[in-house]
Amino acid sequence: MIGSDHAAIASINQPSSNNSNTVSTSFDLKKLNHQRKAIFDQTSLVTGIPWNLIAAVDQYEFTIHQFKKRKKSKEPQGLISIQFPERMWAGMLNPDPDDKELESIRIFKGIGLDGSGDGYADEQDPMDRLATMTSIMLKRGKRLEDIRISLWNHYQNSRSVQRIEQFAAIYAVKGTMDLYERAFPLPVNATYSYPDSYGASRGWGGHRIHEGTDLFADYGTPVRSTCYGIVEVKGWNPYGGWRIGIRDIGNVYHYYAHLSSYKKDLKAGDIVAPGQVIGAVGSSGYGKPGTSGKFVPHLHYGMYRDGGLADWSFDPYHYLKRWERDDLKAKAK
Ligand SMILES: [Zn+2]
Repeated sequence: MIGSDHAAIASINQPSSNNSNTVSTSFDLKKLNHQRKAIFDQTSLVTGIPWNLIAAVDQYEFTIHQFKKRKKSKEPQGLISIQFPERMWAGMLNPDPDDKELESIRIFKGIGLDGSGDGYADEQDPMDRLATMTSIMLKRGKRLEDIRISLWNHYQNSRSVQRIEQFAAIYAVKGTMDLYERAFPLPVNATYSYPDSYGASRGWGGHRIHEGTDLFADYGTPVRSTCYGIVEVKGWNPYGGWRIGIRDIGNVYHYYAHLSSYKKDLKAGDIVAPGQVIGAVGSSGYGKPGTSGKFVPHLHYGMYRDGGLADWSFDPYHYLKRWERDDLKAKAK
């Protein structure tokens, strides 16, 4: 039951060609995220770690594991997505990789702890995995700087720590984990068109293939964030011109290119909401900073998933169709 609820999060972030009959999962997601938030609030009280940081670690792990299912037959279940590398739980030299005995795990220098209070450190138990992670986070101390170093020591990867800090910042500002609302990147009452052009061999703003969808509209048409997220990148790029990259809590990077201007005062690190104006359509790019007018004005919109070590592009077209339909529906009300 809980497992299938969690799958709902995966499905909302999945590249798909969902048709209009897609069943809304928003209610289940709300419920699920309320349950998760309650666990993280409680864990925060016990450990002294801010709830949003615990939530961010779990959310990060969720986004990383959702597409590469473990081959292990006993896949962790429940509301907590945190997993640990093979054999770390029981200890490298432990003859029993599924050991649950606290004493022998300790002897073999495993990391597994008991968080549920049943006297066992069970890697299948969500609360045991959560307690083990918070203990890792507190290894050096309770200050945010200490936790950051502890996280780096655990993941051995600055990307992971960056993602966790980004998610934590979004949760801190919004105060909730229920952040799956979406918006079409242009106002639906504007004049625009967007042919399905993903993967085309030539296009504006892509590299080897066209990694995104071009939305043609007049100069100055407002460009809006499609999601809740954090501004990761803002500035000039030789191909993209004036562009903005926004990371959402599903660990998807949304790329908006060829802008004519940015929304005043918007800067890297800002938290944005779906529908919030971030800039305006233009034709910047393909040259030195400020180059403009080498092609017709349009918004190049790309979506990239974080694969752990690198981002990979997927087709935004069907998402755009869905968000456009939803915005039109909301407008008609
Ligand atoms: Zn493009």
